[in-house]
Amino acid sequence: MPLDKNTKKHQRRDQFEKKTIKAMVEIYCKYHHKKPMCEECNNLLEYAYKRIEKCPLMPDKPTCKNCHIHCYNKKYREQIKTVMRFSGPKMFLYHPILSIIYLKNKYSDRNRIRNNDKKPTNDK
Ligand SMILES: [Zn+2]
Repeated sequence: MPLDKNTKKHQRRDQFEKKTIKAMVEIYCKYHHKKPMCEECNNLLEYAYKRIEKCPLMPDKPTCKNCHIHCYNKKYREQIKTVMRFSGPKMFLYHPILSIIYLKNKYSDRNRIRNNDKKPTNDK
């Protein structure tokens, strides 16, 4: 097992997910609460970090939209949805590089899903 490689990939993905969610919460808070990060938003972020750390699908975690595990509890799920809906389109403006990586991940999700559909058996 190439454990090292996977661990590295895991860490990279972990870091990326955290950076992305942090950027999104910051944008949201800046517009709505006039702060870089208020207590409420910070709580949400802490919660999101924990979900990322516990995600059983890492390191090949699909983007949240494509994920079948809804790991957020009800309260935070609504909150994070609102944040993502608001900040998602603004990410290109504030964090173009994160956006590009995000799109790349999303694209590879789609390919993976499509490939799984095409050939359910006979995987090499
Ligand atoms: Zn806030």
